[in-house]
Amino acid sequence: MALQPSPWPDAGTFDSDDGSASRTVQRMVRDHGAAAANEVEGDEFDDLVCMASRVLDGPIAMLAIAEGGQFRVAAKRGLASTPELRGHTLWRAVGQTRPLLLLPDAAADVRFRDDPAVACAGGVRFYLGIALFGSNGMLLGVLSVADRRPRSAVPDDALLMLRRVARLATRLIERRQFERSNRIAEQIAQTGFSAVVVVDGAGTVTFANVAAQALFGPAVTSGRPVHALFPAALQADPDAVANWLRPGAGDAPDDSTAACELQVQCGDGEPRLLEAVRCAWPAGDGNGMALILRDITDNQRLQRVRLGEQQDALTGLPNRAALLSAIDALHQQATPLSVALLGLDNFRSVNDTLGHAIGDAVLQVVACRLLARLPAGAHLARFGGDEFALVFPSTAPGAIEAQLHAMLREIARPCEVDHHRVHIAAHVGLAATGGTPGLAEEIAGASELIARAGLAMQHAKRSSGRRLRRFEPGMRAEAIDRRKLELELHRACREGEFELHYQPQMDLASARPTGAEALLRWRHPERGLLLPAAFIDALAHSAVAPAVGRWILQRACRDAAAWPPVDGRRLAVGVNLFPAQFEGEQFLDEVDQALAMSGLAPAQLELELTETIALRDDGVAEQTLMQLRARGIRIAFDDFGTGYASLSMLHRLPVDRVKIDRSFVCDVIANRGDEAIVRSIALIARNFDLQVIAEGVETPVQAELLRQIGCQEVQGFLYSMALAPADFDGWLAGHANPVPAAGANAPAQAVRHG
Ligand code: C2E
Ligand code: CA
Ligand code: CA
Repeated sequence: MALQPSPWPDAGTFDSDDGSASRTVQRMVRDHGAAAANEVEGDEFDDLVCMASRVLDGPIAMLAIAEGGQFRVAAKRGLASTPELRGHTLWRAVGQTRPLLLLPDAAADVRFRDDPAVACAGGVRFYLGIALFGSNGMLLGVLSVADRRPRSAVPDDALLMLRRVARLATRLIERRQFERSNRIAEQIAQTGFSAVVVVDGAGTVTFANVAAQALFGPAVTSGRPVHALFPAALQADPDAVANWLRPGAGDAPDDSTAACELQVQCGDGEPRLLEAVRCAWPAGDGNGMALILRDITDNQRLQRVRLGEQQDALTGLPNRAALLSAIDALHQQATPLSVALLGLDNFRSVNDTLGHAIGDAVLQVVACRLLARLPAGAHLARFGGDEFALVFPSTAPGAIEAQLHAMLREIARPCEVDHHRVHIAAHVGLAATGGTPGLAEEIAGASELIARAGLAMQHAKRSSGRRLRRFEPGMRAEAIDRRKLELELHRACREGEFELHYQPQMDLASARPTGAEALLRWRHPERGLLLPAAFIDALAHSAVAPAVGRWILQRACRDAAAWPPVDGRRLAVGVNLFPAQFEGEQFLDEVDQALAMSGLAPAQLELELTETIALRDDGVAEQTLMQLRARGIRIAFDDFGTGYASLSMLHRLPVDRVKIDRSFVCDVIANRGDEAIVRSIALIARNFDLQVIAEGVETPVQAELLRQIGCQEVQGFLYSMALAPADFDGWLAGHANPVPAAGANAPAQAVRHG
């Protein structure tokens, strides 16, 4: 080790350190150093310096000890005080450059003549220094003898004697150092950083520090066998622990630094988990050893809690919190990042119609499929209910998009869960750090990246066709527009800007109106009359949905109550519901109130439910429907065939008729698949004793085919669009007289209103 001595003899300084434990140790070492120095001065070191001085008959002699990169004067003769030795280069030259330095006249040597100890009045002329090296080769100190007069030579036998004194000094320094480190170790053992138990060769406890006594209580008393502290019954692997506690008798002691975990029963009866390291040495027939034990029970618990905090319980994937901190960490390292947010489509309806257990299983399947396709270096997390997040340490768009498309394809494969074949699809939004064209602002962190990916995902979900969208600055503007829309919806509700229009429903056989579906319109002060496509989604998710839904119910009942009978029968009104409306407990009261206020007969009201609304697996929907049915109100199953509704549910729920979705009717002529679907829906309905109405009928050919298939009623542009109340009244008046029934070539008469 290269020693860098500072101007000696200012020994006893220590480098500072951040760790408080190591500072404490340093303080102890320093205290010990001072104590050791006090002991040293004036004892055996003095004797040795005295001997050295005698051997060479030199008036000046000194023993300097190397410590912590500096020298400390341990004993001296012929020198008044150590300060006069400051800046001394003589002594430092020994050991660093040579094991022995002999200067007959230092004043005549260009290297040393300016040394203050040489240049001063009565300074050193003759100098002999011997470096003291320890058994490990480290410089321990310098033994020096000097004279104020030059000397021509040193007798061989005197030099030999001086070398012997130097050897004694070396041994003495080593012994002192050993004793000192022993005392330090002992004091450290007593400080309570860790529990320390010392065991002799027979496996008997000979020492236990305060921390060990606090941990084990009286069980750790000297003279008791160490294995009693670690009962085999508590250990996960009793044999391994027994072996670990008995380092091979007679073998070379193995100072295994590998930690061992030991279960113990504390003095207070509490089970604790300890981490132990062992240090063994030969003792008698076996090995003595010191066990250093650390209680890690709380760490483990904490770790488990932390793991739980960071992990999604259902899928085992990292959760949102873990993901955000991972992104932040990568972002701080300035790693280029891409974050993808993947949201499942209509997952809620899987949950609602097939139940939460199957919903959970589907999420697990999705997690597995994503994991299987996860490229090296990327992270996957479950971000929320039906959302997964992926982090790629790259911003290369092509490769990442290809990987995401592969994942989307993988998810889209039907999965078989508990005898249900479930079709799942997803949309992905992608955002990257930097490199977004036209995006000047810097990404603040994880939440900003995620927010961008979220905006892109929402965009993908709304725009049909593309399942993956990269974030574009315009999306934020769109989100702002949506927020504006939400505020406008509040105003519309307050100011009464909504209207109900009515689309007639026709009996196919008689071509006579049987009722009408109430369809919402928004008379926007700036944008004119808006169709639901422009706002219904936002409205359904808005806080005003229940209030608007209540109004629709009341207005529809009021209008329908005023319609004249057709062919002596009263017309029914179909009312669409928002999920938020149906969820409320007061829904039944609202329906009763609307009927009571309008005087409409319950049989004239038909509530249209979509799967998401009706088929919750908690039984609430079923009960509400039963109570509605008990009042004589009719229930129609809207958009039938587009979701996951199972046949058993159709059977269980009190439904009067199903409405075949417009998407099937639209292609019923051109597409044999759609025709098959319509046929099977009609068949199922017949078997369950349900009526069938098809929506979106636009051509007589469609109407005829539907009639043949067994559809009783239809609605669609072939007969009329949805009409404002006054127009609908006019349309009804035009249908007061019966018209010829529909035949093979003459389906219900079309009346188009623009
Ligand atoms: P929906 O309940 O399936 O209503 C049928 C939609 O099909 C109506 O669109 C209707 O105008 C349209 N339609 C009917 N016949 C034809 C046709 O022959 N061809 C074409 N191309 N379309 C036809 P609308 O009025 O735009 O309503 C769209 C959706 O908005 C409705 O679908 C319903 O889900 C929702 N909605 C409308 N009014 C209300 C309401 O009062 N409350 C609730 N909760 N939702 C409503
Ligand atoms: Ca409807
Ligand atoms: Ca529909």
